[in-house]
Amino acid sequence: MNTDTDSATTHALRPGAGHPRQPYLTARLQGFGTTIFTEMTRLAIEHKAINLGQGFPNFDGPDFVKQAAREAIERGENQYCRMAGHPELVTAIAEHQARFYGLRYDPMSEITVFSGATEAIFATLQALCEVGDEIVMFEPYYDSYRASVAMAGATPRYVTLRAPDFSYDRGELERAITQKTRAILLNTPHNPTGKVFSKDELEHIAALARKHDILVITDEVYEHIVFDGEHIPLAGLPGMRERTVQISSSGKTFSFTGWKVGHTCASPELSAAIRCAHQFVTFCTATPLQVGIAAAYRAPDEYFSTLTRDYRALRDRLCDGLAGIGLTVLRPAGTYFVLTDIRALGYHSDVEFCRMLPQEIGVAAIPPSAFYTQSDDGAHLVRWAFCKTAETIDAALARLQQLKKA
Ligand code: PMP
Ligand code: GLN
Repeated sequence: MNTDTDSATTHALRPGAGHPRQPYLTARLQGFGTTIFTEMTRLAIEHKAINLGQGFPNFDGPDFVKQAAREAIERGENQYCRMAGHPELVTAIAEHQARFYGLRYDPMSEITVFSGATEAIFATLQALCEVGDEIVMFEPYYDSYRASVAMAGATPRYVTLRAPDFSYDRGELERAITQKTRAILLNTPHNPTGKVFSKDELEHIAALARKHDILVITDEVYEHIVFDGEHIPLAGLPGMRERTVQISSSGKTFSFTGWKVGHTCASPELSAAIRCAHQFVTFCTATPLQVGIAAAYRAPDEYFSTLTRDYRALRDRLCDGLAGIGLTVLRPAGTYFVLTDIRALGYHSDVEFCRMLPQEIGVAAIPPSAFYTQSDDGAHLVRWAFCKTAETIDAALARLQQLKKA
């Protein structure tokens, strides 16, 4: 159970907006406050609310994965392991890439293990960005991107995904690329919208990367949670393998978010650069957990299809329930999050709504304003997580009935 009640500061809802200046904190990090996930989980705990905010499953991943980690501990795999990743795990990841996408990566020179996708993103940006470089990203964005870009001394440029389908304006993306652009940071399947970028969109992004000779960093942590369409790794498109850093994490696919085992796949040259940063951030990720996750990546196909099938049922359960309450549901094609428009119920501020919800209704959710910088589009949206048991979702929906307009 997540019982995190710590705060880096007192509150944080909209990036940079109204955060008290922190003594000691560098200028780079002023305005970042506390992550919205910590903030909303704290409110959930304080008010004993059902937490549909922070994206962590309230159930465990498979026993055979836990067993593999336990056995690794028992046989003494408890010291530092290879800096770039346990040989068993990088081999299992290479097999997984070949099995699902037909992508061939050399486990030793092209796959690197990190303490979660969060560290992979951080180390990649540290390694690849000169101070002053620009990183193009879509908003809403996963919150760590902006902070990692800032810590690397780079500058973010935003392209807004627009509801209801969260497509982007191609001209806007083209104009966001300048002489200073180092990379596009792309997340598909996308948190928080649930968008799965189409082949056509990926081809457009790939063509721009080739034309301007820039890199693409892809965050594919929800690669196996896709309901409509299919997940296409950008690295598989022509000319993209050598300019793409593909990032994923075992946390989502195997429901062990607390283990924090993530990885990158990239050319030997890109991997060497990223490893240079990684060796001084964590050096290596927890050894026995890497062995557990190696077993996970070798799971039979049925494990992955069952994961998708189960999440599809939970998606439909939550989406139908939220629609029944009168919220406008933007049904996700992937991930375990759904956005709803709250205006139909007469609300106009996601932040006010999400601050009221735990205390008044007994449910916690996430205000997506925290994931926008240039647009106000998040103000009328709320994100709900369905990586929860059916009983938990039903209990939350029962409480949410109070929101129904008379
Ligand atoms: N990227 C996205 C889009 C996410 O939603 C998350 C969620 N936690 C992460 C990265 C971080 O993954 P990890 O927990 O492996 O660091
Ligand atoms: N990725 C999770 C989410 O989007 C949260 C991760 C975190 O708390 N940092 O809810």
